[in-house]
Order: sequence, then C-alpha cells, then structure tokens
Amino acid sequence: MLDKLKILAKNFNQITPEDFTWEDMADLRKRYSDYLKNRDVAFILNLFLMIISLKRTGGFDMYDKIRNDIFLVGVLVNTGEPYIYECDNCSGNGYVECDNCNGSGNETCPQCNGDGTERCFECSGDGEVIGDEGPEKCGECGGEGEIECGECGGDESISCRDCGGNGSQDCSDCDGQGEIESDNETLFETKLYVSWNKNLQNLAEFRVGTADPIDQLDTMENTVLVGLGAGHGEPEDFIQEDENYIYYFSDDLDDVEFNQVAGKTWLYTSDGIGDYIIDYRD
Ligand SMILES: [Zn+2]
Ligand SMILES: [Zn+2]
Ligand SMILES: [Zn+2]
Ligand SMILES: [Zn+2]
Repeated sequence: MLDKLKILAKNFNQITPEDFTWEDMADLRKRYSDYLKNRDVAFILNLFLMIISLKRTGGFDMYDKIRNDIFLVGVLVNTGEPYIYECDNCSGNGYVECDNCNGSGNETCPQCNGDGTERCFECSGDGEVIGDEGPEKCGECGGEGEIECGECGGDESISCRDCGGNGSQDCSDCDGQGEIESDNETLFETKLYVSWNKNLQNLAEFRVGTADPIDQLDTMENTVLVGLGAGHGEPEDFIQEDENYIYYFSDDLDDVEFNQVAGKTWLYTSDGIGDYIIDYRD
C-alpha cells in the first residue's frame, strides 16, 4: 500500500509545481479521478504529504518522519456579516400571487357585479320613456332597460385594482427583495488545516473547545490549509469578528468522513460539527 502510494507520489511529483499546494492536489484529483476516485481522506492526505516531502527533500524521509504526527485542526471565523436567507413566503421570488385576483390579474367588475350590463340611466330600467306622444321605447337601451356596463365595457371583469393586472404583489415579508437579513445570525467561515507542527498540536490540545484564538494559522510552519467552508449561526459572546477559534481537533484521520456531494468533496467531522469543502470535482 505505502509502496504503491510512493510510486504514485513520484509520478505526480514530476508533473506538479515546486510550490505544491492543496489546490494543486485538488487539481490532481480532478485530472486523475480514475486513480483517485473513492480514496479516503487518509489516502489523499498521505499522498499530498509524500509529494511535499519529495519537493522539499527529494525523498520520503520527511514524510516517514511526520506521517504518524499529522493531525487536523478546524477553526471557525465569525465574519460579523449578517446571515441573509431566502424568504420563505415567496421562495425568494420577491413577489407572491395577488390575494385579490388569485393571480389572474382580473377581478369581477364592481359596477355591474360581473353582469356586463347596468341599468339604463335614460329610462331607469323601464325600457320606456315619456315622449311628446306618450310612452315610447327608450332610444338609449332599445327598450331593453339595460345598457353595456360603462366600467367594464361588457367584459364582466376589470383589470385587478390591487396588482394593476400583474397577478402578483410584492412580498410583504421581504419587501419584494426575495431575501431577508437575519437579526441574530451571522456568517461564519470554517477552515481546516492539516499539520505536523508539534507546537500547534500542543496548543490545539490545550485550547480545544475554548475561545482562545490561534493566530497566523495560514502561515504557521508545517501547517497546510486543506479545507474551506461556510456556515451561519448566532455568535456566542466570545466569538468576536475576524478572529480564529479552535473548533475541531483530531489526530485520528479515521475519525473523519470524506463524502462527495454535488460535485464537491466534503470532509465531515465525526461529531457532526462542521464540514469543510476539501476538493472540487466537476
Ligand atoms: Zn418574500
Ligand atoms: Zn390582483
Ligand atoms: Zn361592469
Ligand atoms: Zn333605457
């Protein structure tokens, strides 16, 4: 198993840049999906570290030294930005069906109640008027007593007055925006690092589950960013904006799950807290 991995690492070493990063690893996963499909996180991380070892030392000494010392650190960063969610009421459209016309854009003519006709004003509906020679047929309505409704022109309905005939109205929940800014939830970024830095391990073990930030993880020696994710929630009092907090720590790669959802590969922590996109695949 290890020998096979080392051969693979040597081959990949030839075709990857000197400053090999996890993003390059993700590219490899895309380009050589036949080889790397269905490989678990331990396999991929080991391969990644082997390639780094080859780049830095020309051999596998560095890898052999660190391979039992690698561990993962997850951190959470509160961006302070409000969480914006899709409006439930209108499914994000910003508009809803008009109540008044049920979406048709028309309503029953209020003047004729939908009859299309109204009482003749000339004869007051009698069909007759008094002429010079006594009662005669009303010229206005032809003796019918009714004329075409002046409001709807005989159509029986008019354009809906509430929605102007559109059949829809601005959603009142979101003021037509389709999305709502949360009052209490903010956006979080999550970052996942693989590391073989003893100091960081001590620090992480000591501080796991606490609010003490670990600074400069991005540039910390022997530590590589391997995953980014996003989330939202109500910040606890101690989670200030733009600060890092230890969020997950494990030295056992078997504790993490590696799943592909919607073209992305996610790393899940075994306790269900947090997930990180660690690979994209088309
Ligand atoms: Zn809405
Ligand atoms: Zn309407
Ligand atoms: Zn009418
Ligand atoms: Zn008449």
